[in-house]
Amino acid sequence: MTKSFRTLDDVDVKGKRVLLRVDLNVPMENGRVTDATRLERVAPTIKEISDKGGKVILLAHFGRPKGRDPKESLKPVAEELAKVIKRPVAFADDCIGDVAAKAVGAMKDGDILCLENTRFHKEEEKNDAGFVAELAKLGDIWVNDAFSAAHRAHATTEGLGHKLPAYAGRTMQAELDALGKALDAPTKPVIAIVGGAKVSTKIDLLENLVSKVDALVIGGGMANTFLHAQGIAIGKSLAEKDLAATALRILEKANAANCAIILPVDAVVANQFAANAPSHAYGLDAIPADGMILDVGPQSIARIHSAIDDAATLVWNGPLGAFELTPFDRGTVVSAKHAAERTKARKLTSVAGGGDTVAALNQAGVGGEFTYVSTAGGAFLEWMEGKPLPGVEVLKRG
Ligand code: AMP
Repeated sequence: MTKSFRTLDDVDVKGKRVLLRVDLNVPMENGRVTDATRLERVAPTIKEISDKGGKVILLAHFGRPKGRDPKESLKPVAEELAKVIKRPVAFADDCIGDVAAKAVGAMKDGDILCLENTRFHKEEEKNDAGFVAELAKLGDIWVNDAFSAAHRAHATTEGLGHKLPAYAGRTMQAELDALGKALDAPTKPVIAIVGGAKVSTKIDLLENLVSKVDALVIGGGMANTFLHAQGIAIGKSLAEKDLAATALRILEKANAANCAIILPVDAVVANQFAANAPSHAYGLDAIPADGMILDVGPQSIARIHSAIDDAATLVWNGPLGAFELTPFDRGTVVSAKHAAERTKARKLTSVAGGGDTVAALNQAGVGGEFTYVSTAGGAFLEWMEGKPLPGVEVLKRG
């Protein structure tokens, strides 16, 4: 397959100053990194550029600081990164100006330098031309390895791509390849599983999916809105009743596009939103008036499994029930395990993403068994919505 974007295969980085945009937005507690997954993900690109004799200059944001704030410094993250990649990582207290220029000027080929949080300058999020120009002075090329920030047109995620030759890093490349195989040029039939709390946050996503996939499983709290729209009594379940017309429109669109909609046919119902609350499975004609649907029922799970068996490609976002509360994680966990087994048996290409989805798959113990799990939250959702991502589009330029 020809690539529609440039990668590290298309450039000789030796001796070049490489401005490498990465995602270092790791969870921290009391100044310590509590989960280094994101650092591990960017390690291959850093090492490759360094091994090839490029000067690796890391650009990243951290948190949502309002101006310079020591609590949101990237310094401790850079120290943790050095441990993960087992190489020295120098640090500069600013990402532009004399401090940054001096630090870059002192680099030898293969060195790695992390610049301070780009969001310490408000111009980062404004994609300010002057700020982009200041940053561009520090590098010869720009490599974007931060898919998770690609839905933002900020100075370091997009602007630099107009000023310097632009390339995808290896993590970005892997993400785009995996996502391409899931929705852009998938092996058919394609099934999507969409769950989560609310329809309102996923209308664009559902509308895009029904035009692209062969079957769409709708679960989680959002399924309740669809059931209600179809005249089913859902008791006290979480639902957005004012979105009934939207739900019906999505169902009509699916019908017109020949996309099979798989809604729950039964439900696990409890009286309170709490772990281990007493619960029973009911058919949809018998949901108690004082009950809350907290998970898909056993018959629904069986239908979802056979739908997964019929598919060659699966895209998954959102839990099928209130997965943080046992036993209401069951539908999500057993379906995720089933998808993982089909993937292991090489019958299924499975791609999942979105914050809660990654947590749910890890809870099922199958996070590592899907073909690809995206840790990008907002960018993954916008991709599922079919929206162009500015940080990706700029890599296709010229
Ligand atoms: P989202 O962030 O949209 O993917 O939604 C994830 C949240 O949806 C999780 O916190 C789940 O607990 C919640 N959720 C899923 N199913 C239900 C349900 N049937 N009732 C209430 N909350 C649910």
